[in-house]
Amino acid sequence: MSPSTESPIDPIPFARPCIGEGEVEAVVRVMRGGWLTTGEETRKFESEFANAVSSPHAVAVNSATAGLHLALEALGIGPGDRVLVPTWTFTATAEVVHHLGATVELVDVDQQTMLLDLEAVERRIRQEVSIRAVVPVHFAGQACDMERLLALAHRHGVAVIEDAAHAFPATCRGRPIGSLGDLTVFSFYATKTITTGEGGMITTADAQLAERMRTMRLHGISRDVFDRYRAPGASWKYDVVAAGFKYNLTDLAAAIGRVQLARAEELRAARQQIAEYYYEQLTGLPIGLPVVRDTRDLHAWHLFPIRLEDDAPCTRDQLVASLAEQGIGTSVHFIPLHRHPFWKSRPSIRGRRFPNADAAFSRSLSLPLYASLTHGDCRRVVAALRRLLTPSLSRSLVGVHLDEPIRS
Ligand SMILES: *Cc1c(COP(=O)(O)O)cnc(C)c1O
Repeated sequence: MSPSTESPIDPIPFARPCIGEGEVEAVVRVMRGGWLTTGEETRKFESEFANAVSSPHAVAVNSATAGLHLALEALGIGPGDRVLVPTWTFTATAEVVHHLGATVELVDVDQQTMLLDLEAVERRIRQEVSIRAVVPVHFAGQACDMERLLALAHRHGVAVIEDAAHAFPATCRGRPIGSLGDLTVFSFYATKTITTGEGGMITTADAQLAERMRTMRLHGISRDVFDRYRAPGASWKYDVVAAGFKYNLTDLAAAIGRVQLARAEELRAARQQIAEYYYEQLTGLPIGLPVVRDTRDLHAWHLFPIRLEDDAPCTRDQLVASLAEQGIGTSVHFIPLHRHPFWKSRPSIRGRRFPNADAAFSRSLSLPLYASLTHGDCRRVVAALRRLLTPSLSRSLVGVHLDEPIRS
C-alpha cells in the first residue's frame, strides 16, 4: 500500500497497471534500437521468465489466449477430443478448444475456493474416454491442488494445461506455478499481475512442445524472422512446415515485461498487504472473504473476490451500483461460461448443472486490488462497504444514495 496522496473523492478504478519510469525507459531504448518486433528483447524476456518459474522453456506470445491455443495445438488436440474446462473462468479458456474443433466439457468448481472440483474431474475422466486434456484455472491467483490433479490426469493419460492468467507469481507446495503442469500459460494483459499491455507466456519442460509452439506462433515458419534477418549467417530461405498463426510478442512489449518481471515480487507483496488489510477490516460484515486453500502457498493476489451472504441488506447488483456512485470500481469474476448464450447452447453443455458456480455467481464481486492502490484508497473501499452493508446504515440503498463521500 502506498502512502495516501489523492483526495478522497478521486475515483478508485477497479484495476490499474503499475508502470514506472523503468518500463518507460525500456520501451524508449527498444524504439531507438531499430528492432521493434520479436528479437533479442523477447529472447531475454523468455529466458528471464523461464528462470523465474524454474521451467526449462518459455515461449512468449501476444496473449494468454494465443498461448492456450498454441499449447492445445502442440498437444495435437482436435476433432473428436474433449477438454475439461471449469465453468468459472473467462471465455478465452474455452474458446480455443472450440477453435481446434475439439469439444468443451465444462466442470463445476469447489464452492469455497472456486477452483476446479477435482472429484468432478475424476468422475468425468472415468466416464468419458475421449477426454484428452484438462485446463485448471488458478482463480484469483491461488493455485489448484496441482499434485492431486497431475496424478489423477496422468493416471488416465490426460494432459494438464494450466490457465495461469491470474497466477504469476504463485506457488503450489513450494514449487512455482509454471514448473508443474505439462504446459502453463500466463497473461500479461493490462489488468493482470504483471503486464506488457497485451502479452502472454507459455512454459513447459517438454522441448518438442516448445519447438512446435515457436514454429506455430509465427506462421508455421521453421525459423523466426529475427534469425533470418539478423543472426549470423542470415539468409532469405525459410520453410513453412505448417499453417501457423501470428502470435509472436513484440520487443516493445517484451521490454515492458522484463522490467515488470524484475518487480513482480515487490508488486505481489504490495497486493498481499492490501489483501491482508481487507481481511482484517472486512470481518463482521455479511460477506464471505476469499478462502485460501493452503496458506503455505504463495498467492499472486490478482483478485480479491467477495461474496454477499444471505443476511446482506442489498443485492450484489445494488452493491456494485452503490460503490460505483462512490467512485469505487468493482468487477465480477466470473459470469460462469454455462450462463452465456453461446456456451449454454453447445450440445456438450446444454442441460448440465453447475450448482456451485450458480450459487456463487449472483453474490460475487471483486474489489480493487493492485500495487498502486493507496492506503487512503483501501480505507475508502472498506468504509464504503461498512456503510453499505451495516443494516442500520444502509437505508441509502432503497433509492437514496450516500450523498457524502467517505473521508479517509
Ligand atoms: C485474462 C484471462 C485470460 C486471457 O488472457 P489474454 O492475455 O487477455 O488473452 C485467460 N484466462 C483467464 C482466466 C483470464 O483471466
